[in-house]
Amino acid sequence: MQLVDLIANAAPLSDGFNRAITYLRVSVTDKCNLRCVYCMPEEGLAWLRREEILSYEEIVDIVRAAASVGVRAIRLTGGEPLLRRNVSHLVEAIAAVPGIDDVALSTNGLLLAQAAQSLAAAGLRRVNVSLDTLRADRFETIARRPGLDDVLAGIDAALSAGLKPVKINCVVMRGSNDDEIADFAALARDRDVFVRFIEVMPVHENLELSAQTYVSSDEILERIAALGELAPVAGPPGNGPARYFALPGSRGAVGVISPLSHDYCERCNRVRLGADGRLRLCLFGDHALDLRTPLRAGAGTAELAELLRSAMLIKPERHHLRLGEAASRMRAFSEIGG
Ligand code: SAM
Ligand code: SF4
Repeated sequence: MQLVDLIANAAPLSDGFNRAITYLRVSVTDKCNLRCVYCMPEEGLAWLRREEILSYEEIVDIVRAAASVGVRAIRLTGGEPLLRRNVSHLVEAIAAVPGIDDVALSTNGLLLAQAAQSLAAAGLRRVNVSLDTLRADRFETIARRPGLDDVLAGIDAALSAGLKPVKINCVVMRGSNDDEIADFAALARDRDVFVRFIEVMPVHENLELSAQTYVSSDEILERIAALGELAPVAGPPGNGPARYFALPGSRGAVGVISPLSHDYCERCNRVRLGADGRLRLCLFGDHALDLRTPLRAGAGTAELAELLRSAMLIKPERHHLRLGEAASRMRAFSEIGG
């Protein structure tokens, strides 16, 4: 059967809680060229071996199967996705899959300036760029590597390449960068960008840090509201969990993502494919299904689609993450807003 026929005939993916799953996040590598304090230990992780990582062809096979059961949007992420060679080739192949109508990328922006044009030409629609500080010395403290100028150049290049909207993800940490909330809000007022403030989440590497530096999204909004009247706005189209607001006369908007204080599990529409081919059903927890083994044993689109359907049975209703408790996080990255 042709893929177009499969798409026309298949019932869309839906989990045990009646949530339609239309969004697949794909980690193309576990490696990163930064070591953000809330995400990775300074020495890095025990990286996957090359043969453990899905090839681009394998990723596209899984995307094709996902599209055949209703997935419409793909986000490439990592690790740092732009570390993998020729990501634009992958973008092009995914954008050509019938049924996929949105391909996006989450990046730390370090390599974006060089890549933005070719990514846009390949069919990438938009980017999220992580940026936690606008101060060069602080960037090096938080990311444990230099690079602020490269990230800012990457944001400019993305806007020039028409990768709109650009969303900037800022993880807020008390005593570290929370004094820059107003500077980031000013960026959203003056430039055509959406700044999303993210509550820091507890993961193995950062339990103490997250407990000590947590700032709730309500507090973040209160602090922005002190700058001027904040009106709720629709925000950009997309699949994100953010709530958006704008100061008077803003070109962009600010958003908050509140995995801890106001989780959005009931609206969850997503699953995640790890670089190792494991389909993760929830941001946290051990609910996962290995797709790499059946794929390498010759599973085709219909068989992979059935596996995706069966995975819906183990998608949990919600995460039970609490401040100060370690999340059970496999080789996952947090990717909340990414
Ligand atoms: N390397 C890319 C980047 O930084 O955008 C893509 C992957 S990164 C894991 C995706 C997003 O997850 C980033 O916006 C990052 O800030 C966010 N993130 C990582 N660890 C986090 C944590 N402990 N709490 C909140 N957000 C986190
Ligand atoms: Fe790398 Fe992104 Fe994690 Fe920072 S948040 S260490 S850039 S994967």
